[in-house]
Amino acid sequence: MADAPSAPPDLPGYVPVHSGKVRDLYAPVDERTGEARGDLLLLVASDRISAFDFVLDSPIPDKGEVLTRMSLWWFEQLADLVPNHLVSTDVPDAVAGRAVVVRRLDMLPVECVARAYLTGGGLREYRADGTVSGIALPDGLTDGSRFPEPLFTPSTKAPSGQHDEPMDYAAVESALGPDLAARARDLTVRIIARGNEVAAPRGIIVADTKVEFGVADGDLVLADEVLTPDSSRFWPAEQWEPGHPQPSYDKEFVREWLLSPASGWDKASGEAPPPLPDDVVERTRAKYVEAYERLTGSTF
Ligand code: ATP
Ligand code: MG
Repeated sequence: MADAPSAPPDLPGYVPVHSGKVRDLYAPVDERTGEARGDLLLLVASDRISAFDFVLDSPIPDKGEVLTRMSLWWFEQLADLVPNHLVSTDVPDAVAGRAVVVRRLDMLPVECVARAYLTGGGLREYRADGTVSGIALPDGLTDGSRFPEPLFTPSTKAPSGQHDEPMDYAAVESALGPDLAARARDLTVRIIARGNEVAAPRGIIVADTKVEFGVADGDLVLADEVLTPDSSRFWPAEQWEPGHPQPSYDKEFVREWLLSPASGWDKASGEAPPPLPDDVVERTRAKYVEAYERLTGSTF
């Protein structure tokens, strides 16, 4: 077997604590005690890309740095709405640009999803039941329709390799209690609303997004990544036209290739997908960079 793509680097002074699909988490070692610190994490975004719950064999060059820099940029745009986990960008040279030191939080057991536009899993539910996340919606909506107000459509945080399942709001209330549930819902909806306010003049629609919160001293703190192409569907605003799937800046593009006959992969087989061809890797990299440059207005 080949090594996993971009395996977690060895970082002197840091102890690995977890590897997710995309990020590697480390605890810094306290110089005085020689013990791993419990209050901080080094969050390293790799160039790994996942699709259909598989981490692909083909890393996307610069993806980790694009995601990290974009999240940092968004944390600033959202700073008056919600505190975030960032402590420092002073990180080891080996992971410069794609790592941040963050406050280690107790994470909510809920993926906080907001949808401003109808597509994907929301569209499937709407077509079957006329609802999205159990919320009744008017007839006549189509792929790409904009909701009057963004919807909170949470899901479970499934263990590695398993699918996140939709949760209705009552399930979130029983998991978090009514007060925390309401705060998580309101913040999630305000984050996508702010995301669209900021992104619209830059020609990007944030169709939907997932945020993760941790709790510190009873307050919700925005953690993980925020409003990136990995956690969100970004659409070029000038091409938005409801009635069919929209072109996007996320990995929809990789998914399309995997599902096409060219990949020779059968999603239903349960087998790992094949490596991506170079041109799919390069075009995906270009999409991530383009999203970063459009949003922030700076050259990557
Ligand atoms: P999984 O870890 O289940 O594979 P994932 O693929 O989304 O999920 P990554 O994004 O690769 O995971 O890794 C990030 C992990 O770090 C997530 O489990 C996220 O909940 C966790 N995380 C992010 N920020 C913090 C924080 N400040 N404190 C504690 N955990 C955090
Ligand atoms: Mg993640």
